[in-house]
Amino acid sequence: MRRIYLDHSATTPLSPEVLEAMEPWLRGDPGNPSSPHHEGRRARRAVEDAREEVAALLGAEARNVIFTSGATEANVTALLGLRLEDGTAPPAVAASAVEHPSVLETLPRLERGGRRVRRLPVDACGRVKLETLREALAEGVRLVAVMAANNETGTVQPWEEVARLCREQGALAHTDAVQVLGKLPFEVGRLGPGSAALSAHKLGGPQGVGALWVAPETRLEPLLTGGGQERARRAGTESVAGIVGLGAACRLAREEQESRRQHLELLEARFLEELRAQLSEVVVNGPPLPHRVPGLLNLRFPGCHGETLLFALDLEGVAASLGSACSSGAVEPSHVLEAMGASRSENLESLRFSLGWTHSLEELAEAAARIARVVHAGLDA
Ligand code: PMP
Repeated sequence: MRRIYLDHSATTPLSPEVLEAMEPWLRGDPGNPSSPHHEGRRARRAVEDAREEVAALLGAEARNVIFTSGATEANVTALLGLRLEDGTAPPAVAASAVEHPSVLETLPRLERGGRRVRRLPVDACGRVKLETLREALAEGVRLVAVMAANNETGTVQPWEEVARLCREQGALAHTDAVQVLGKLPFEVGRLGPGSAALSAHKLGGPQGVGALWVAPETRLEPLLTGGGQERARRAGTESVAGIVGLGAACRLAREEQESRRQHLELLEARFLEELRAQLSEVVVNGPPLPHRVPGLLNLRFPGCHGETLLFALDLEGVAASLGSACSSGAVEPSHVLEAMGASRSENLESLRFSLGWTHSLEELAEAAARIARVVHAGLDA
């Protein structure tokens, strides 16, 4: 049976063009970008070309892009390392209740370090409540983490509004942009002081590489100290092949963003149409398009146990996910759906399907047929 991979938000397959760009660097050509000889200079040029591509996708300047091992490192670096204009650490920090665990699990570290932390609630669609953000800023919050779009539901956050409110109050805004890049426009020029995180493997690039963009007027204490790489903002020899892959993935994402978005919208429409034709009840947890990332669907199948469904689907050749991949393996209800007000049973009846621009409409129709079969079998059991 041909497998249908509907877990692109967990990780996407490597694009052939990306692999081609990475190949020379994987084959064993030496070159440490910090070395002054020919081989080193060649690696340095490849890294700097990739930096230009990342910056172009973000509408930013290359010098403000720092390569990291992924978005987890970028998020943690921002939360622990961003500094206010006077060089001090923000005394109070707020983050939306639906952030990725790399943000949420870092908050207790900030608390242990004596900083005040506030979690911002979301509405039933998963959008952060701006009223609470205003209150938090008025009470002295000076660093705010609100993601551009959620990885479990695809809900697009009002990140520009969040950034504007932060700017007005002299606060820093950090945005985890992992799930919007390559699908929806995300230009950091509109952010102001603060930072944004991204990850290559959600974009058709390799795993283990990402970037942190830091606004030109924003100071950052490095998380990793050592050599002076990345202008002393992230020590450690650069992963040249990984960075070249990230650069190629960003170039493709920029060039194809609009066609990918349109294709994902078509795929999603077909997928939902087929599911609804075959199942009496399918609930989308999250807002409709365009307030959601196209192709990222968190669906509830009333009366079905999500985890059982997930395993049955795997046997039917369909790969989906229980909430975020980072918490799969654990039967804990999703913190995102919980924050949106879902009951425990609604939460446990939900699965995430994330489509990729490489799918065909036929493939999605076939996936919907397999899902409907498995759901019917579960309901009849
Ligand atoms: N933020 C979001 C929204 C994500 O979806 C992910 C990937 N699960 C991450 C951060 C972490 O990215 P990485 O795997 O590159 O550490």
